[in-house]
Amino acid sequence: MHLILMGLPGAGKGTQAEQIKEKYHIPHISTGDMFRLAIKEQTELGKQAKKYMDEGALVPDEVTNGIVEERLAMKDCDTGFLLDGFPRTIPQAEALDEITNKLSKKIDYVIHVDVPVEKLLERLTGRRVCPTCGATYHVVYNPPEQEGICNKDGAALIQREDDTEETVQKRLSVNIEQQKPLLDYYESKGVLITVDGDQDIDKVFADIVEKLS
Ligand code: ADP
Ligand code: ADP
Repeated sequence: MHLILMGLPGAGKGTQAEQIKEKYHIPHISTGDMFRLAIKEQTELGKQAKKYMDEGALVPDEVTNGIVEERLAMKDCDTGFLLDGFPRTIPQAEALDEITNKLSKKIDYVIHVDVPVEKLLERLTGRRVCPTCGATYHVVYNPPEQEGICNKDGAALIQREDDTEETVQKRLSVNIEQQKPLLDYYESKGVLITVDGDQDIDKVFADIVEKLS
């Protein structure tokens, strides 16, 4: 299973990825998570990515394509992968075609989690994440059992630095502009699946599983 999760910031890609990777036993590859880890570890990549992420802008394609190429060549991707947040531009989609060709793989499905734009601001500003395990919560729609504490490992939840209202607005406008041509790109290849992301988390997951089977 070689899958891509597509959707605007806040659509629920990370949330669905947690369940998809368990069900299909494939690694979840999130470029955003990779950049955040690099920033935390203060690597050269992290330094390059930070200035773009802080502004809500996209990290340049050549940087992003490079880390994806390295990651997809790793052994755990042999039987499949779930890409989340990549590709986000047409040049990235073309780079991905080259990478998968080289690895003799092909993208089976692109799952578009579709949520009306007006719902996304609230989802993003209410998002809380676990700094140790990466689990995602929402203060209203998906709260942890104990306020501010991760269900899985008990760590104190944090708000992502780019989930402030100002940066969210910028991220949304950048991504709205980029997303349409990408959806058309995969539609024309006949691999696009669209699910209604404006439903309960478990219902969205059930729809994804149904469409994949
Ligand atoms: P993305 O990875 O697409 O940016 P997330 O999975 O991080 O999105 O979800 C964004 C926020 O919305 C999180 O706070 C998450 O808990 C919440 N969320 C995810 N799916 C739903 C849903 N179906 N209904 C309501 N809130 C959701
Ligand atoms: P969300 O889906 O909530 O926007 P991500 O974690 O996917 O969050 O992305 C966070 C940030 O990481 C983006 O705003 C961007 O700066 C950077 N980023 C992630 N994926 C890409 C990508 N494919 N191309 C360029 N920048 C990216």
